[in-house]
Amino acid sequence: MSERPSELLLRHSLKQLKLPTMLRDYATVATRCTKENCDYVTYLWRLVEREALDRDKRAAERRIKNARFPVIKTLDTFDFTAQPSLKEKLILELMVGQYMERHENVLIIGNSGTGKTHLASALGFAGCQQGRRVRFYTVHALVTHLIEMSEQRQLERTLRQLSRLDVLILDELGYVPFTKTGAELLFEVISRAYERLSVIVTTNLPFESWTEIFGSERLTGALLDRLTHRVHILEANGPSYRLLESKRRLGRRDSGEMESDELAQATAASGDKSKR
Ligand code: ADP
Ligand code: MG
Repeated sequence: MSERPSELLLRHSLKQLKLPTMLRDYATVATRCTKENCDYVTYLWRLVEREALDRDKRAAERRIKNARFPVIKTLDTFDFTAQPSLKEKLILELMVGQYMERHENVLIIGNSGTGKTHLASALGFAGCQQGRRVRFYTVHALVTHLIEMSEQRQLERTLRQLSRLDVLILDELGYVPFTKTGAELLFEVISRAYERLSVIVTTNLPFESWTEIFGSERLTGALLDRLTHRVHILEANGPSYRLLESKRRLGRRDSGEMESDELAQATAASGDKSKR
C-alpha cells in the first residue's frame, strides 16, 4: 500500500524531531484509539507519553553504559544475612539517592569478598536510574588514566570531566600503593569532588593504614579530611562471600565436613586479594 502524502510528511517530521517511538507507534496507537473512540487529544497524549517513557529508558541505559560498571549488580541479589555488620537500613536509605543531592560520600570498608564492589555498583546503578551521571573506576585504573592524560597535556580537561559527574565510584583503594604522582593526582580528584559530587570508595584498609599507601601523612590527612567530612561508612567485617559460596558448593558435593586441602582450594578459588 502506498503511503499518503500526509503520512510521508509526518514520518519525515518525526524523524527530523528525533521522536523514534512516535514514529514506530503512531499507526498502532491510531488504530487502537479509533476502536476506543478516543478524541484527538487523547491520541496525541498516548503517543507523546510513550515517547517520554522510552526516552527516560534510553537515557538510563545510556547512563548505565557510560558508568562502565564491571558487572551489573543490584541490591535485590544482595544477601544481608551473609554480612550482618552492614546496616541494611542505611543502605536502603542510600539507594533512595538523597546523599547525591547533598554531595555526601560513601565509604565501604571490608576484606576481600565481602560485597564492597557489589554494593558500590548497586548504588551507582540506582543513581543511573535516578538520572545521575555515574562513573565507575578501580582506583588503579583511574590513576593510570590520569597519569596518561597528564602526559598528553589533557589532565585539566579530564579533571573537569570528572567534576561534572554526580557520583564517582573508586573501587579497591589500598590494593596497589601509589607513586608520589599517583597519590597527588588522586588527591586532586578528591579535592575537586569535595562538596560538588559524591564519591563512593571501597577499600580493604582501615584509616590508620592509609598513610602507607599514599606515602605522605600530610596528604593522607588532607584527603581523609575532605572524604570523611560528610560520609556514610559501611563496614563489612563478615566472611568472604566467595569463600562461603565455594564452601557451599563443595559441601553440596559430598555433604560432609570440608577437608583441609579442599578448604585451601576454596580459599584460592575465592581470589582473595586481601593484603591484611
Ligand atoms: P569485594 O569487592 O568486597 O571483594 P565483591 O562485591 O566483588 O566483593 O563480591 C564477590 C562476589 O560475591 C560477587 O559476585 C558478589 O556479587 C558476591 N557477593 C558478595 N557479598 C554478597 C552478599 N552479601 N550477597 C550476595 N552476593 C554477594
Ligand atoms: Mg571488589
